[in-house]
Amino acid sequence: MKIIDLRSDTVTKPTPEMRRAMAEAEVGDDVYGEDPTVNRLEALAAEKMGKEAALFVPSGSMGNQLALMVHCQRSEEVVCDSESHIFHYEMAAAAVLSGVQLYTVPGLHGGEAEELIAAHIRRSSPHLPVTRLVCLENTLNRGGGSVMPRERMAGVYRLVKEHGLALHLDGARIFNAALALGCEAADLACHADSVMFCLSKGLGAPVGSLLAGERGFIEKARRYRKLLGGGMRQAGVLAAAGLLALANTEHLAEDHDKARVLAAGLAAMGFATDPGQVETNMVMLDLGQAPFTTEDFLAQLAKEGVLAGSGRRHVVRFVTHLDVSMADIGEALSRIKKTVDILS
Ligand SMILES: *Cc1c(COP(=O)(O)O)cnc(C)c1O
Repeated sequence: MKIIDLRSDTVTKPTPEMRRAMAEAEVGDDVYGEDPTVNRLEALAAEKMGKEAALFVPSGSMGNQLALMVHCQRSEEVVCDSESHIFHYEMAAAAVLSGVQLYTVPGLHGGEAEELIAAHIRRSSPHLPVTRLVCLENTLNRGGGSVMPRERMAGVYRLVKEHGLALHLDGARIFNAALALGCEAADLACHADSVMFCLSKGLGAPVGSLLAGERGFIEKARRYRKLLGGGMRQAGVLAAAGLLALANTEHLAEDHDKARVLAAGLAAMGFATDPGQVETNMVMLDLGQAPFTTEDFLAQLAKEGVLAGSGRRHVVRFVTHLDVSMADIGEALSRIKKTVDILS
């Protein structure tokens, strides 16, 4: 039985073409700035984001945390959505590495973003931390891959600048967001001082993310990357795969189609999943009303050869990606149906 792995878009394996490019990559010592393939990748990433410079990092988490380290001082505060990745999935690194506090705001990603952020910027007082940074996430992972429109980002950025703050964009899936919005990634990144995006998710590279921003910002981030142990040597073998991943981002639209088909199939089974809510490559299935637990569902589904992840309480998350075809989605739906029949 073929396993259909819908846990995450991180599970994609490098294509034969990528493996070939990795094997043949021209390399040098990147800590000396001498890896030509890494240098090419950083230049391309900066160009795609419309920023002066970019830095290749081993993971998206490191990219986000470097941004916090450069933007903030100890005891300062970062305003972010209460569902954000930097809050839930980065091991409290903001506290450990930067000594900052995350001021988590429910609904910040939504239509009230400006009002909510304005309400959470601290007034100057000896009792209060100093607000330094706002972090947006587009697409919002725990928000089911939902997209923040350009105008909203622009409004937030204007507000942030009026208050003399900085804005970091966790754009792990910025290319998914751009496709869904019908714009370029740079049209989103222009509303942020710094942006991180992942090569290792929907773009299909095995390893790596990039942090982009102004030249001086990236120089500081490069020093902190070394501090964190992220100075890699002949990293061109990884960057070579990244260059291929970054050369073509249009195929992500197929992942969005697959997600919509999956959501429609779930809706047809009677689940409350609304295909109209699916904006990118994620489908959230809320089992709060189901006669079985999320854990039992995931375990039985795995026995049927479909792997899914869990998100918020009672919520199962399916993520479409390069290594599942439209036919696999059809097969996954029939296995989900079988799972529900067994459990009900
Ligand atoms: C995956 C992801 C990251 C970074 O993850 P790594 O596993 O560290 O590469 C950051 N933000 C969001 C929204 C993500 O989905």
